[in-house]
Amino acid sequence: MNFDLTGEQDQLRDAVRALGRKYGHSYFVQKAKSGGHTDELWHEAGRLGYLGVNIPTEYGGGGGGITELAIVCEELAAAGCPLLLLVVSPAIAATVINKHGTEEQRKRHLPGLADGSQKIVFAITEPEAGSNFHRLGTVARRDGDDWLLSGRKVYISGVDEAGHVLVVARVAVGDGSAGSGDAAPQKLKPALFIVPTDAPGLEKSRLDMEILSPENQFMLFLDDVRLPADALVGESLDAGLPALFAGLNPERITVAAMGAGTGRYAIERASEYTATRKVWGGRSIGSHQGVAHPLAHAAVQVELARLMIQKAAALYDAGRDLEAGVAGNMAKYASGEAAALAVDTAVQALGGAGMTTEYGVATLLGAVRAGRIAPVSREMILNFVAQHILGQEKSY
Ligand SMILES: Cc1cc2nc3c(=O)[nH]c(=O)nc-3n(C[C@H](O)[C@H](O)[C@H](O)COP(=O)(O)OP(=O)(O)OC[C@H]3O[C@@H](n4cnc5c(N)ncnc54)[C@H](O)[C@@H]3O)c2cc1C
Repeated sequence: MNFDLTGEQDQLRDAVRALGRKYGHSYFVQKAKSGGHTDELWHEAGRLGYLGVNIPTEYGGGGGGITELAIVCEELAAAGCPLLLLVVSPAIAATVINKHGTEEQRKRHLPGLADGSQKIVFAITEPEAGSNFHRLGTVARRDGDDWLLSGRKVYISGVDEAGHVLVVARVAVGDGSAGSGDAAPQKLKPALFIVPTDAPGLEKSRLDMEILSPENQFMLFLDDVRLPADALVGESLDAGLPALFAGLNPERITVAAMGAGTGRYAIERASEYTATRKVWGGRSIGSHQGVAHPLAHAAVQVELARLMIQKAAALYDAGRDLEAGVAGNMAKYASGEAAALAVDTAVQALGGAGMTTEYGVATLLGAVRAGRIAPVSREMILNFVAQHILGQEKSY
């Protein structure tokens, strides 16, 4: 068992940490409050190769894995810059296209994702379907060689910053007449489409969210969006389900890494403050166990989550997808809880300063709260663990 990073991974961690600190949390907050995006940070990270660490070298990436991308996500968050689009563009979209796209799709999209000049966001959630992806109502149907896509998506991050959105839809297969006399019901197969964000028939409406973030969420309306045949990810409809699942482990692992980084950031801010602030004689407020223990407890939870993230990423990079699925879900759960605890505890330890913009901790409350809901909620992870690990009957 080896818990050490390789020399290259260590260097990556140090270099990304330095880049994150160059920008810092005040940059992130200023962009969020002004309605801007973190373009400078994104493009510099792209130029330095950090956005493409998990993309094969032949498509302009670093040739690493999700371990490396998790390092990037964690270190930028630990510097106060938790960039949600790292989870959708390099983690989900690049993985899906690399593993299940056609060679033409890999050549067209991966170099831009690797250098940060292109972003592809991800749209699965729907107003009616929620956590139940079997109820997805977005459908794709054939029209000659083209596809026509219709449906609605909600909470889709970063559509205003991206050239394309990877849309999860369903396609009817079979004509209803197959089988033995009785009309067999049509089957709906999941399929992924790479849709230009300026495609005619695709409308977006920005949602007002109570999260301080430079990345926005959107409702998407797809009204017979016409797409060429090669917008479908993969060579055939059979690629749909594996392609969808391919994105899930990287999504969970990188979002968990972002949560762990955010937790580290908050604990560091609070510890610096409590070690020096004195309001009772000569002792720091951190000398009181009522202040120090909650911070220490949060630090333990964050470190436990980091360990699980490291395990999940190692399993994933070793091609052990099923085990990585279990570990990735557990890592995401642990990190979501730890990050929310760390930020809340840090706010409390800072007292009034905790609620100021200057100290930069309360600014993360909305984001870490969302981390217990998205991209997969804590309840759905507990359902997964209860059913698949503990052998409990499914309740829904
Ligand atoms: C900031 C943010 C960014 C997002 N970005 C994206 C994005 O880029 N792309 C995208 O596709 N989606 C995105 N989402 C959507 C996110 O993935 C969903 O919000 C999440 O999957 C939960 O779905 P829902 O909101 O429909 O909740 P629902 O499914 O309506 O669930 C509501 C509550 O009920 C609980 N619940 C539901 N079913 C069960 C059950 N069977 N057992 C126990 N509890 C249950 C849930 O855990 C949750 O607490 C984003 C959401 C947020 C908040």
